[in-house]
Amino acid sequence: MNTDFDAIVIGAGMSGSWSAKELCEKGLKTLLLERGRNVEHIVDYPTTNMNPWEFEHRGEMSYKIRQENPSISKCYAFREDNQHFFVRDTEHEYVQDKPFDWIRGYQVGGRSIMWARQTQRWSDLDFEGPLRDGFAVDWPIRHNDLESWYSHVEKFVGIAGEKDGLDTLPDGEFLPSWEFSCVENHFKDVVKNKYNDRHVIFGRCAHLTQPQEIHFQQGRGQCQNRTECERGCPFGGYFNANSSTIPWAQKTGNLTLRPFSVVHSIIYDEKTGKASGVKVIDANTKEVIEYKAKIIFVNAGSVNTNLVLLNSKSERFPNGLGNDNDILGKYVAFHNYRASITATSNAFLDKKTKGKRPSSPYIPRFRNVYKQETNFLRGYAAGFQARRELKQASTEGLGKTLSDNILKEKPDLGGWSIGSHMMGETIPKETNYVSLDDSKVDEWGIPLLHVSIDYDENDEKMIQDYFTELTKMFEQAGFTDIKTRDTKQAPGLDIHVMGGVRMGNDPKTSLLNKWNQLHHCKNVFVTDGACMTSTSTQNPSLTYMALSARAANYAVEELKKGNLG
Ligand SMILES: Cc1cc2nc3c(=O)[nH]c(=O)nc-3n(C[C@H](O)[C@H](O)[C@H](O)COP(=O)(O)OP(=O)(O)OC[C@H]3O[C@@H](n4cnc5c(N)ncnc54)[C@H](O)[C@@H]3O)c2cc1C
Repeated sequence: MNTDFDAIVIGAGMSGSWSAKELCEKGLKTLLLERGRNVEHIVDYPTTNMNPWEFEHRGEMSYKIRQENPSISKCYAFREDNQHFFVRDTEHEYVQDKPFDWIRGYQVGGRSIMWARQTQRWSDLDFEGPLRDGFAVDWPIRHNDLESWYSHVEKFVGIAGEKDGLDTLPDGEFLPSWEFSCVENHFKDVVKNKYNDRHVIFGRCAHLTQPQEIHFQQGRGQCQNRTECERGCPFGGYFNANSSTIPWAQKTGNLTLRPFSVVHSIIYDEKTGKASGVKVIDANTKEVIEYKAKIIFVNAGSVNTNLVLLNSKSERFPNGLGNDNDILGKYVAFHNYRASITATSNAFLDKKTKGKRPSSPYIPRFRNVYKQETNFLRGYAAGFQARRELKQASTEGLGKTLSDNILKEKPDLGGWSIGSHMMGETIPKETNYVSLDDSKVDEWGIPLLHVSIDYDENDEKMIQDYFTELTKMFEQAGFTDIKTRDTKQAPGLDIHVMGGVRMGNDPKTSLLNKWNQLHHCKNVFVTDGACMTSTSTQNPSLTYMALSARAANYAVEELKKGNLG
């Protein structure tokens, strides 16, 4: 196989597939390296058309698997129908200073196969957070820098949503949204009447409610509301890299996709002062191969991107590539998903919900938006939904007794069940970090990752505020039986782990410039969650995709000018 390329992208997940698509479309011969197996759209979704009764455990995970995998089993999406897309606890060991549940998907497509598809833009109120509130460093970009790239990504991916006209959550290029249930509509109206600054909208999400020509060209079709998305969708009804960006890049004839390729490190050329390529270990044969390229995109998925850079040591960079200021791996932050609240409503009993819906309403951040107003920094967004479902039939007895019990019960709709979960911003701190563990290497000779990440007092206060405010809002809507719950879950389970290779204007206090380029090694770009200076509250992947597309186009321009190659 040829080992010389124009560009190398490390990681074939959500962000890497966007980097590769853009580079290929601009004519660059691009090598896309993925440590896991290939997953081809449709062919490799083995459970996508299975019925519940066709699964050995009817969709539940067995006791044995849960016992063997306590960490990944906590993830709501790890189920019998899609377990093959998740890394198990017993695979790919890492060292935890403090409990950290790392949710990973090592395959072509990465976690874009199993994601919940929520896609909200950032506003300047998010980008200006660190500067206003005096933490981390100032972001070198604002919404204006990303606006056209958000649009570029949204049009290709296909995002369902409404133009809500909110400062906190800029509108985008939307396909038709889903409908609110009557109880959700009622809550929306109550919130609108009681508060000037709080809103209930429908979450923007990556589903084709009305596919356009660009989606048909990708071979994707309309979302069928099956809500089996995490198995992989045979219609391409939601966006994943496998149905969309990767085949699109392949169609250009410029993509070489190499699965089973574990990137060990980036090779730095002391003479040119640039990266010359990457060292890869074949996952199966353990063969060591070096690939060369003029530019390198690191998209291994936040934490793993930190690992690749930390392990890229040279005489010039003994502590990891670009790491002159010793902050590589530090200032990691995440979303705080510990808190939720449930309630019931006995109003609207003459109405019910019909059919399925793969997304739900969303409450954009309303705390500390324009000024500091609480005893904690920043704020939270929240998910929200109200459904009326058939009460669970009796599960007494076995065999004939069980079926008799189920059949004799009259269908009962019961009241409405209402739920919300918090999506809190956490503050990046030097003490929340990842590093190389010096005690052990994995089977490919790469040091294990050492994780030291925890909550702080700010997070605890934010949880209490969410409980107080959402309880008030629920009471105002007349909801009853309100219950709050703090899962106390460890960081990591929220999945949105960010930072470690943050963007900033000053090379003394950041690693990447405003183009996601390492300050000290200009032909290396980091455009996944590792680049995030702060986390805000929005689901982050839309921003990673927009940053990837923007940086890839910039890199091509710089290459043409002779500034990189
Ligand atoms: C259950 C679930 C729900 C989610 N819901 C949402 C949501 O609603 N909205 C949202 O915005 N985000 C959501 N996410 C998160 C979203 O999936 C990630 O933010 C997104 O996939 C990140 O893209 P990425 O390219 O950085 O990482 P990934 O998609 O994880 O891809 C990284 C790839 O790099 C590969 N890799 C790692 N190390 C190496 C190496 N050394 N060499 C070669 N390859 C390597 C991995 O195998 C992987 O394929 C969810 C995730 C999960 C699991």
